[in-house]
Amino acid sequence: MQLSQSLDRLPRRTLLDGPTSIQRLTRIEEALGSSLNGVRIYAKRDDSMALGGGGSKLRKLEFLLGDAAEAGADTIIATGGRQSNFARLAAASAARLGLACELVLSRMVPREGDDYDLNGNVLLDGLFGARLHDLPVGADSTRFAHVRAEELRRDGRIAYVATLGGSSPVGSIGYAACALEIQEQSTALGVDFAAVVVPNGSSGTQAGLVAGYRALGLDATRVSSHSVLAPAAGAIAATVEKANAVLRLLSFDASVNTDDVKVSGDQLGGGYGVSTPAMIEAVRLMASREGLLLDPVYGGKAFAGLLSDISAGRYAAGDNVLFLMTGGTPGLYAYASDFRGKA
Ligand SMILES: *Cc1c(COP(=O)(O)O)cnc(C)c1O
Repeated sequence: MQLSQSLDRLPRRTLLDGPTSIQRLTRIEEALGSSLNGVRIYAKRDDSMALGGGGSKLRKLEFLLGDAAEAGADTIIATGGRQSNFARLAAASAARLGLACELVLSRMVPREGDDYDLNGNVLLDGLFGARLHDLPVGADSTRFAHVRAEELRRDGRIAYVATLGGSSPVGSIGYAACALEIQEQSTALGVDFAAVVVPNGSSGTQAGLVAGYRALGLDATRVSSHSVLAPAAGAIAATVEKANAVLRLLSFDASVNTDDVKVSGDQLGGGYGVSTPAMIEAVRLMASREGLLLDPVYGGKAFAGLLSDISAGRYAAGDNVLFLMTGGTPGLYAYASDFRGKA
């Protein structure tokens, strides 16, 4: 069966306006000078979508909200960290589709102050009309979400619970669909991408792409990630499990194993949501050379990893490398103090 036919059979609510663009980052290539080693760098602009400020989580929400509609849901409950992009985009999508939205936000990052607690994504959550539940450190947000859903059910409402950055097997299908989009764009542009580089947080992005590559008969190791949450071994295990669950949902009689999933833990630094000097430098480089924004938690670290791999000679001269820009730029306002000062 074709991947496109499998995708067409699944419930989906359209949230993107069409394929996101791919552009070459020539000004960054120039800035790298001889350390570019003959590599060509492209960006896929999943940060550029109209709804809710855009970002990768909208691709997952297309399938999650399709699933929610099948279940007859009138309310979406999403969980995440205080500055969750998934929560923000769940709130925006619910506003667009006329659903109620509740966000269960927990403390996953050792960071405080008004910027982190109230600005960035949190500011937008409120504007999109979501109801916020602020959970303390150590609280079980998934359990809280299910208890809340049960409470709503007793009031005659139907809540759909989406946890873990939307990286359930259903949500991850969004990136299997993106694999197909990349393949179509690659053909149209006449550019063969030797590698697609992504951040790996809750693993759904990479899992969906890996499943999509496998379903298309392409080499899944072309997709590689930099982990921003778990050490590499844990991220690989989670990605394999999710990719196989996606293949099952797509009715593909194929599977992947740990050899198909490439994850580097080199950029993790002090852990999830903790800034690193390489991240700050990567965000500054992308902004000052291309006028494009990366976020501090995901894209900044992943792009730092790509730059370090390129200068270490881990790509061959002539390779076309596609960096997936996943959005999350409201996070810059939450991390403002890390970017102030020297230009
Ligand atoms: C969630 C997120 C990711 C990581 O995706 P996962 O599927 O959780 O691995 C990357 N970038 C941004 C901006 C995100 O919000």
